[in-house]
Amino acid sequence: MARLCPHCGIKSRFDSVFPSGIGKNCDDENGFHYIERCQECKGIVYSIWNVDLDAPVYKPVISHEGTYQKEKEDEEATPAEKFSYPFILMNPPITISDSFEKSFVEGVKCLNVGAPFASVVMFRKCLQIIAEDKGATKGTLKEKLESLSVSGTLTSTLESISTVIREVGNDGAHPNEFEPSIDDAKDILDFLLLLIDQIYILPEKAEKLRARRTSSIK
Ligand SMILES: [Zn+2]
Repeated sequence: MARLCPHCGIKSRFDSVFPSGIGKNCDDENGFHYIERCQECKGIVYSIWNVDLDAPVYKPVISHEGTYQKEKEDEEATPAEKFSYPFILMNPPITISDSFEKSFVEGVKCLNVGAPFASVVMFRKCLQIIAEDKGATKGTLKEKLESLSVSGTLTSTLESISTVIREVGNDGAHPNEFEPSIDDAKDILDFLLLLIDQIYILPEKAEKLRARRTSSIK
């Protein structure tokens, strides 16, 4: 299974460093520990995978038409990565300010060390910097998002995504009843990246393509 390499940043495949290719099951239940090497950059990664030992064995079968099929869906048999070192450090996909970059990187670092409260607070701060960068400078973050919705910068989908980043960020900062988990913090990062894609990256790409098209039409 290809996954993001923390060394080269490429979605790569990994080879087990041990000749057997089998990880060792250590103290934690169903946790298989691997030392692996990235096929792209040869960087070494230590990872722990959850493997369901009770899951049925999946083997390919030949159907009556002679085509190759799997007995079960691949997804069911896919083990889940629990831990990987070095951590994947991600830089923000856009440059707004020093503060934005620091907050984004710190939010990802918090995710990597299992600190979801701090992580969602940082991602909320990123949202605030984005809102201000897009011209909403007055009022609370809630009011800023509302004004961006009125001006059309945020579609209704983006407004609801922004609202959840703001609310869960508040839950991380204050003693609220909802306590964000690591999975919640990962979702918040996904939402933040989606927001950045929609309001910065895609419009710029479209503009560049439009410019190339215009210049080629005589
Ligand atoms: Zn690599």
